[in-house]
Amino acid sequence: MKVWKKALLGVVVLALALAGYVFVSVRSLEVEQLSEDLHVLRGFGGNTAVLRTAAGAVVVDTMTLPLQGSRIRELARELTGMEPVLIINTHYHVDHTHGNPAFEPGTRVISTERTLSHMQTLDADFWSGDAARLLPNETFADRQRLQVGGKTLDLFHPGLGHTDGDLVVVFVDEAVIHTGDLLFNGHYPNIDLEAGGTIKAWPATLDAVAALAFNLVIPGHGPTTDRAGIAQFQDFLRQLWEIGEAAAASGASLEETEASTALTADAGYEPIRFIVSLGLDREFVLRRAWEEATGNFTRKN
Ligand SMILES: [Zn+2]
Repeated sequence: MKVWKKALLGVVVLALALAGYVFVSVRSLEVEQLSEDLHVLRGFGGNTAVLRTAAGAVVVDTMTLPLQGSRIRELARELTGMEPVLIINTHYHVDHTHGNPAFEPGTRVISTERTLSHMQTLDADFWSGDAARLLPNETFADRQRLQVGGKTLDLFHPGLGHTDGDLVVVFVDEAVIHTGDLLFNGHYPNIDLEAGGTIKAWPATLDAVAALAFNLVIPGHGPTTDRAGIAQFQDFLRQLWEIGEAAAASGASLEETEASTALTADAGYEPIRFIVSLGLDREFVLRRAWEEATGNFTRKN
């Protein structure tokens, strides 16, 4: 075989191996059972909750890829013995919504009004064509109580934080909440200033979440936690905002702020990774604090 043919073969084999690795990785979801009827699925993307009701499965968030959405759909059927009848999207980000198109068109999909608006403007390319059939078809502004197959779910928009449209799901009968990305547990958060997110207001928003009735918390990313996990993340956000405010008051540069050693409440936090780091690290959150405090960002919707 000619050398170039060998090289080409090598490249093809490597590409296939990588594609296989990615395929297996995105489909392998870890399953955690929180109550008789409630499971958490973990993989590349946000945490997905699956609730069994007498009317069918309820799925909260659908991860990053339609391929994962189809795996979530399979697991929801296996875990509940029922078809998914309701999807709830906690917010508009790709790692919580892009699995939606793998579900049956016509499935009930609920989000806040702001989340639907962000999907249709900030992520319009994805949500065109067939994918648009799995956009939220029911929205609300602040609160919504649902009765589904004998289960009660309270959906609650507690205020500004990760974006301006996040909702929290209260699984009333299980005493569990899914916070979406209003809580990152053990990971540096994305702070979407362009979609109305804010470090400054986020801790007070989490006060409203902590005031709900629950025992366990499914965060947007990271392991299941409880009120202590929320309180720790609030400490982190308050400290981060103090650093941003101090930088704005003293006229510190972005570079100086990114090098700050004043941030200590992030001890043990890991950047979210999928094969490589996705850029949500210590430098990123310090940059966002400087940008919010100095007004160096542009709202997009
Ligand atoms: Zn997010």
